[in-house]
Order: sequence, then structure tokens, then C-alpha cells
Amino acid sequence: MLPDLPLRPATWDSLEAVTGQIKVCTQCALARDRTNAVPGEGSLHPTIMFIGEGPGFNEDQQGRPFVGRAGELLEELLSLVPLRREDVYITNVIKCRPPDNRDPLPNEVAACRPYLEAQIAFLSPRVIATLGRHSLAWFFPQAKISEQHGRAMRWRNTILFPLYHPAAGLRSTRLRQVLEVDFRKLPEAVLASLEIAQSTETRPVGLDAGTVTAEGLEQAADEDSGSGADGESQLPLF
Ligand code: URA
Repeated sequence: MLPDLPLRPATWDSLEAVTGQIKVCTQCALARDRTNAVPGEGSLHPTIMFIGEGPGFNEDQQGRPFVGRAGELLEELLSLVPLRREDVYITNVIKCRPPDNRDPLPNEVAACRPYLEAQIAFLSPRVIATLGRHSLAWFFPQAKISEQHGRAMRWRNTILFPLYHPAAGLRSTRLRQVLEVDFRKLPEAVLASLEIAQSTETRPVGLDAGTVTAEGLEQAADEDSGSGADGESQLPLF
């Protein structure tokens, strides 16, 4: 039985507070059947943040992201750069496993949206690497992964770097090769992000970190919708 919790508080003052809230979240029906929510893990000062779609069976069992076969491939791909999983932060668009690993529903993505917004704000990565089309769609709903993968885009003050999902690389040798080529471009994406940081003279954050408020989340969403965050006006940077 899940505890009867109040609605999520309007503010979180730390990443730990966000993580704690995710673990006990009951904002959508996925909470009913989960073994564990999967908030995310990794470096607390990541240059790169990876965002997958949602937990699968193994992730639900362990409460950790990307610990199954897709996770093994993710670690192999990271080693090309070379990075280890503890050098980056890894999370998902939705934090609880959908039944039979089906695609996340819009209401599930919406229920989890404030958590990912807050994670981005507190972690303040320079590069956000999306894994798969649902993750890309969270930032640019109209963008096509087949066109944007491996091409750096600008999102707020960060570089967004779309990648195919590692699970696609497990199903297709061709996509695995594409993933390898794209992962090798990550250092270039980091360099592009440094140029943004220099020109804005701030550490790139999604929102003002410190305290993430409900108003701040709404304002960020409004600003995105007013600035062409539909993928089409965002020219790839390389
Ligand atoms: N696939 C995802 O998108 N996320 C995980 O954590 C594992 C598999």
C-alpha cells in the first residue's frame, strides 16, 4: 500500500528533496504497480546529463536507471568517449515503469515533468543528451530523431544532443553503429556548450537553481513555448 501523501510541495530546495519526492510520488497510476520509482543517479556536477524514456523491468526492481541490457550498451558507448556512468547523471523522462514497457502516456510524462525540470535546474548540466524519441520530444515535440540524432541543438543555455535509444542499438546493427558515431561527437557538444557558457557568462541552468518553485516551472514552460521550442526554429549547431 502506498502512503496517502499530500500533493507535491510547491518548492524543493535541493536535488535530494526532489529525489525523495519521486520515491514516494503518487501523481499518476504508474505508482500503483511499481516496485521502485527510479529517480536517477550519477555525478552531482555533471557536464553531461543523459535522459532516457522510462524504467524497464530491471530498473523497477533495483530503483536505478539503465541497469539492464540497454544500460550495458550505454556503458559501452560511454567508454568510447571515454566516460564512466558515475561521471555523468542518468535519469528518465518518467520515473516509474509502464506496464509491459509500453510507451509513456502524455499524462504520465506531464505528471513527471516538474521532477525532470527540477533535476535539470539543480544539476545544471552543460550538455543534455536525450536517449530516444520520447526524451527528445520532451524538449522539442516536433523534432524527428532520425533527422536530429548526433546534431547539437540549443535549448535554453545548454546544448541538447539527441541520440538514439541504446535499446534501438540492441535491435539493429546499423543503429548501433550510428550510436557509436554519435557518442564520439559528445566532446564536440561539450565544446559548443562552453561557447554558450562564455557568451552568457553563467553556468547553464534550466531554471534558477536554489529553490525550484511551481511558478518558476510554469514560467520556464511559457518561455519555451514562446521561443520556438518546437524543434523547427532550432538550427543544429553542427
Ligand atoms: N530504458 C530507459 O529508457 N531507461 C532506463 O532506465 C532503462 C531502459
